[in-house]
Order: sequence, then C-alpha cells, then structure tokens
Amino acid sequence: MNLKKLGYSTGKVLFPGLNVKVKLDNNQYFSNDGVVEDFNAHVNKLDSAFGRDSLTEKIPDSKIGLRYENHAFNGVQFIKLVNVFWKKRDPVQDIFVSGHESTHALMSFGKENYLLNELKKYNFTFNPFESYSDEDDIADVGGFLGVHKAGYDIVRICRGDDLDFIKEDILNSKKARNSFHFFKFNYNHS
Ligand SMILES: [Zn+2]
Repeated sequence: MNLKKLGYSTGKVLFPGLNVKVKLDNNQYFSNDGVVEDFNAHVNKLDSAFGRDSLTEKIPDSKIGLRYENHAFNGVQFIKLVNVFWKKRDPVQDIFVSGHESTHALMSFGKENYLLNELKKYNFTFNPFESYSDEDDIADVGGFLGVHKAGYDIVRICRGDDLDFIKEDILNSKKARNSFHFFKFNYNHS
C-alpha cells in the first residue's frame, strides 16, 4: 500500500481551513482531499483502497463536509488515516467547512492543543473543550477561527440559530479580553 500515492502525509502537515501546520505522530496520516462533489463515490473509493466494503448507508446530499477515518496495518504498526473533503460553496463558507472538518481531524489524532494554541494566538480566550460537549460545536469553533484567520468577519457566517451561540461565545471571549486591557490601562493611569 503506497500511502503517499493515495495522498496521505505524516510529519508536519498543513490542515486546511484552520490553516495550521500539525506535527503528526508516525502512525498518523492525513489527506486533504479538497473539493469533492460526490461524497458517496469518494468514500467508496477510499474504502476499496483499504479493502473495506462499501458503505451500506448513503451519505445524505445535505452534507457539505466530511472527515473520514480509516485504520490499516502498514507492516510495522497500526496506523490511523484521516481524510477531509468538502463541497464547493462560496469562498468564506469553504474556509468555514474545511476548518470545521480539520478540527474533527485534530480530534481524531488527539491534537486538540493545536486548536487551543491558535485560539490563544488570535486572542480568543475561550476553551471550547470546556464549554461544549458536542464535537460538532467544537469543530464549528475551528471553522470560525479559520474564517477569522483568513481576514473575514466571522459575523458573515450564518447557518441558523445553531451556530449563533458559538459565534457569540467566540466574539465575547475576545471582547472580554479587550475590556480587561482597557480597564488595566485606566487603572495604571489613575
Ligand atoms: Zn462536523
């Protein structure tokens, strides 16, 4: 099995959307498959590469992004392989969805600290792992962070009420820090 030929990398790998380089362990492989229009065909192709049966349940057309996991034995050890892919929408939405799927991938690999470090780097004093129990909510935080890093206003992302509380939490965490600095400034000069 030629993992490189199948598109997988290990070591330092760029996760799309989140736009962060992640140092994977030597039993962890990642593939950014980018834009994929037919998820069922794509997943069946991945499964057949690993000798797995095709999915019995169809992936609904409404799905716009996916993180897909596989396991294999490479002759030395068991390895985990994760693919991310998404459907093309508009540029901002594409960053959001790929960031969301990349965050799922971080969790597949136990690399949650990369999301926390990036949040900190961009002054979001917020720990989604403490605030949320639903993995999809945490993944949405990664989506928002990616959009913010790309220079877009995260207020532009809307997909109904579901995302609104996450958006609020992220924006508030930044606000809280700013007002703290403002307060400190006043304090020092009074
Ligand atoms: Zn998700």
